[in-house]
Amino acid sequence: MSKQMSKKSARRQPATETATGPAANPAAPCPCGLDATYRDCCGSLHDGRTTATTAQRLMRARYSAFVVRDAAYLLRSWHSTTRPSDISFEPAQHWTGLEVLGTTGGSSFHRDGTVEFRAHFTLRGQAHSQHELSRFVREDGHWVYVSALERP
Ligand SMILES: [Zn+2]
Repeated sequence: MSKQMSKKSARRQPATETATGPAANPAAPCPCGLDATYRDCCGSLHDGRTTATTAQRLMRARYSAFVVRDAAYLLRSWHSTTRPSDISFEPAQHWTGLEVLGTTGGSSFHRDGTVEFRAHFTLRGQAHSQHELSRFVREDGHWVYVSALERP
């Protein structure tokens, strides 16, 4: 009754001051909060070694892409109809943790799905969070982000 329950428990919040640090180190814990190194987790999606099999996986990789400021990954994981022409990052914004609150659909058997999450960040030293219900669909077989939905 020790380790097998840990996956269901609340995720640890990464330490705020290291939130943008681990990304530079492939051997550091992945910013998305899963129990793996950045290289083995979202790093493998960012550099194209793997693709997301679920909407939640894609959503986590997109969060990590904001942490490491990988605009190319964000753009190519965005639906062609809603993708912005480019992405600029707020230099004073530092992402500090991700909580996945719920999902619908989005498995390898689905064509669309939603992920509700809360992403924590600091902006000029102030703590904030972004609570979003995101919609994902498959485009050319791959999960992509479409847009934020109204939260119920
Ligand atoms: Zn990850």
